[in-house]
Amino acid sequence: MSLDYTSLLLAVGFSATCLGLTLFGMWLTARSEKFLLTWAVSLLLVVADIFAYDAYIDMPGRLLGIATLALLLLGFSAMLGAAYQFRTGGSPIPRAVFGSISLAIALPAMALGYDGLGFMFENLFAALLLFATAFEYWKGRNEAPALTIGITALYSATAASFALCAIVLAWDGKLILGHAPSNWAEELSLIIVIASMTGIGALSLALNQGRLARHHRHNALTDPLTGLLNRRALFDLHGNAPVGAFTAVVVFDLDGFKAINDEFGHAAGDEVLRVFARELAGNLRPTDVAARMGGEEFALVLKRTLPETVEATAEAIRAAFAACRIETETGSLTCTVSAGFAFGTKEGLSFDKVLSAADNALYAAKRGGRNRVTASPLRRVG
Ligand code: GH3
Ligand code: MG
Ligand code: MG
Repeated sequence: MSLDYTSLLLAVGFSATCLGLTLFGMWLTARSEKFLLTWAVSLLLVVADIFAYDAYIDMPGRLLGIATLALLLLGFSAMLGAAYQFRTGGSPIPRAVFGSISLAIALPAMALGYDGLGFMFENLFAALLLFATAFEYWKGRNEAPALTIGITALYSATAASFALCAIVLAWDGKLILGHAPSNWAEELSLIIVIASMTGIGALSLALNQGRLARHHRHNALTDPLTGLLNRRALFDLHGNAPVGAFTAVVVFDLDGFKAINDEFGHAAGDEVLRVFARELAGNLRPTDVAARMGGEEFALVLKRTLPETVEATAEAIRAAFAACRIETETGSLTCTVSAGFAFGTKEGLSFDKVLSAADNALYAAKRGGRNRVTASPLRRVG
């Protein structure tokens, strides 16, 4: 079967255009995802290259040769920049510029009329840039292993097909061709590019959607002021399982916080909340879970623990916070916190019940004069 090279080339152009437009559209709706724009630009360059190359096939000439070589290498350099930008969030420019240095070697050969050598360099550098892009995804494989390894494999396959084109041209050893390279490796490469581009597009979009979903989920479960989990996240983690006898819930409520807001302003109040969250997080074991329940109320869930340990932990947090001098725009201030804690039971108690027992202990601490830790009497009964 003889393959119609021009049709294949147009198929690549068509799928690259579709992918580029999709990426551009996605970028318009999520402008913070700047890698989408870099990637769309890289595809725009590749599509322009395809048109230039198609014209070159019909009318081989020096200017078109230079255009096709430059557009392809610039496009793949930008693609490498986009992959880096996606992985790290950093600027794509250094990698794109570094990739473009390949032009300094490949272009002169083409400009001097050595088109055979020019196409050999073009394929070689295209392969290197695509391997480097594959390596970027490989380095980021922890994020979503199946998708990133799939993308790495597809970029690598494309890179290998360009390398093969370079090898076949080098094997022929013709420095001057006078026409577009035409051999089995070119046709194979085009087929691999068509298949890979579709796969890379689908997998990369899935990768990005997954990242956005994780990002939204993180935002939905995190308190933006303190960076702690929010009430919903705490209930997601602990709300449905019975609480055993060695798990404690501690609730904290800042003392006289309304007065701090009234006297020093809301921004100062916010700073007090951040300072308390820092003290809370700083006094925990890795397995302990801290959350802001709302307003100036916080909760801790401590597993595999004993009353003395819980009391000591809450007491350490209370004392550390009371010792903090908090600087605000309207002067420095101190604040205190009250805490109550309760345990589950051997049979398992609902999280709601343990939380409300801890709340009752907290009210007892408030009634007892604030700035103290109180245990729920429930434990002694159960
Ligand atoms: P108590 O010692 O009895 O706990 O008294 P309190 O003043 O701390 O308690 P109260 O519940 O009367 O006041 C809580 C205040 O917390 C009221 C509310 O305006 C304030 N607040 C709630 N959320 C925030 C927030 O995100 N930032 C700031 N600055 N204030 C908040
Ligand atoms: Mg309160
Ligand atoms: Mg309070």
